[in-house]
Amino acid sequence: MGVAIEVLKRLVSRPVTTKYPDAPPETPEGLRGKVEWNRETCIWCKMCEMNCPANAISIDKEKKIWSIDTAKCIFCGRCNEVCPTKPKSVYLTKKIELATERKENLRDVYEEHHSQEKGQKEQKT
Ligand code: SF4
Ligand code: SF4
Repeated sequence: MGVAIEVLKRLVSRPVTTKYPDAPPETPEGLRGKVEWNRETCIWCKMCEMNCPANAISIDKEKKIWSIDTAKCIFCGRCNEVCPTKPKSVYLTKKIELATERKENLRDVYEEHHSQEKGQKEQKT
């Protein structure tokens, strides 16, 4: 009897499976995805770099270079917590599709007055 009730319930309930990757994944509130940075609000205080437990963030204050190695990032959100600006200059997005064939592609280097460079092999700091 219990099985019959369960079958009837499943017949009228929404499927638990999703259409991903054909449709975008449903992301829960508070999901911690790829870390990004806003050059417009950053005050170059280096708090994010100093507090990152994975040493994923590198900043050259003089050359105005901010970079992150997402291959090292553990998505803890500490950089966002300690960033003093409002709005936060470093923040976690809901981007979770980060797979790549080369680890170097996960390094994002932002230089002031220049467009973002992807996949830098050498650290600039
Ligand atoms: S989320 Fe955590 S590990 Fe990733 S860059 Fe920020 S502080 Fe570092
Ligand atoms: S903590 Fe925020 S303001 Fe300070 S350097 Fe990092 S991103 Fe910029």
